Amino acid sequence: AKSSGRGCARFYDRSMIEAARTRRIVELDLREALASDQFQMFYQPIVAIGSGRITSCEALLRWRHPEKGMIAPGDFIGIAEEVGLITQIGRVVLGKACREAMLWPASVSVAVNISAIHFHGDVIVNDVAQALARSGLSASRLVIELTESALMHDDAQALSTLTRLRDLGVQIALDDFGTGYSSLSYLQSFPLQKIKIDRSFVSGGRETQKDQTLLVGIARLCKELGLTVVAEGVETSEQLDGLTRMGAIDEVQGYLLARPQATPLVRDLIRAFAAN
Ligand code: C2E
Ligand code: CA
Ligand code: CA
Ligand code: CA
Repeated sequence: AKSSGRGCARFYDRSMIEAARTRRIVELDLREALASDQFQMFYQPIVAIGSGRITSCEALLRWRHPEKGMIAPGDFIGIAEEVGLITQIGRVVLGKACREAMLWPASVSVAVNISAIHFHGDVIVNDVAQALARSGLSASRLVIELTESALMHDDAQALSTLTRLRDLGVQIALDDFGTGYSSLSYLQSFPLQKIKIDRSFVSGGRETQKDQTLLVGIARLCKELGLTVVAEGVETSEQLDGLTRMGAIDEVQGYLLARPQATPLVRDLIRAFAAN
C-alpha cells in the first residue's frame, strides 16, 4: 500500500492508527470488565446419545457490557488475546465454572475452553489447580477443551503441559476436531480423553458424502483409541438420527438438545436429565 502513492500511504497509516485506537478502547473496556465482574458463564448441556442423560455442560463466556448489552465471545476473545488479557480472563472462567459446577450433581462434569495463549504460558497448570482447590470441585469433573492449533504450536511443551494437567486428574478434550491441521498422530501422542467433532461436519456445510465418510472414519478411529467422541452443532432431529445410526458417536451437543443458558436454567435442566 505504501508504494502506491502518498494518498494511499496516508490512508494506510490512518487505518492502522484507527485500529490501534479501537483496540485500546476495547482493552480498557476489558480491564473494566475484569475489575467489575462483567463476565458471566452460560452452560450448554452435552448429552449421551444412548440414554439422553446430561453428562457434562460446556461453559461459554458472555460479557454483560453495561452499555452494549450481552457480547458473544467471538467478538472479544481475539482482542483479549492480542492485548494480553486472555490469561486473566481464562482464570476468571475457570474459577466461575468450577464454583458453579459444585452446585450440580456429581455425575455432571464442566468443560472449559482454554485459549492457546493461556495454555502455552507457564501458569495454566497452576491456574487449574487453584480453581479446583478453591472451589472444591473434584478434578475428574473438569474437562479442559483445547483446539488443534493450541496443541500443534509446540509439541514438546504441549505434551509436558498436558501431562501435568492429566496428573492433576482433569480430562482433556480436543475441540473443533477436523477443522485445523488434523494430524491424526495427535490422537495417539497426546493424553486426550475426548474429541469434539466440529459443527461444520454436523450442521455447518460439510455434509457431503465425502465429508460424512471422513466423519465416520474419524469417529471409529477415535473410539478404537478409547476416546469419547462428541458431535457438536446438532440442530435437527435428522442430524441426530444420522449421528445415532453412525454408531461411533458417544455424545451430542447443539441447539436441538439445548441452547447455552445461565446457571439457574441449566440447573433445572440438569435436575431433570442427569443421572443421580
Ligand atoms: P466452541 O468452543 O466451538 O463453542 C461452541 C459454540 O457453538 C458456542 O458459541 C455455542 O453457543 C455454539 N453452538 C452450540 N450449539 C450450536 C448449534 O447447534 N448450532 C450453532 N450454529 N451453534 C451452536 P459461542 O458461545 O458464541 O462461543 C464461540 C466460541 O468462543 C467457542 O467456540 C470458543 O472457541 C470461544 N469461547 C467461548 N467461551 C470461551 C471461554 O470461556 N474462553 C475462551 N478462550 N474461548 C471461549
Ligand atoms: Ca469448545
Ligand atoms: Ca467446538
Ligand atoms: Ca469453534
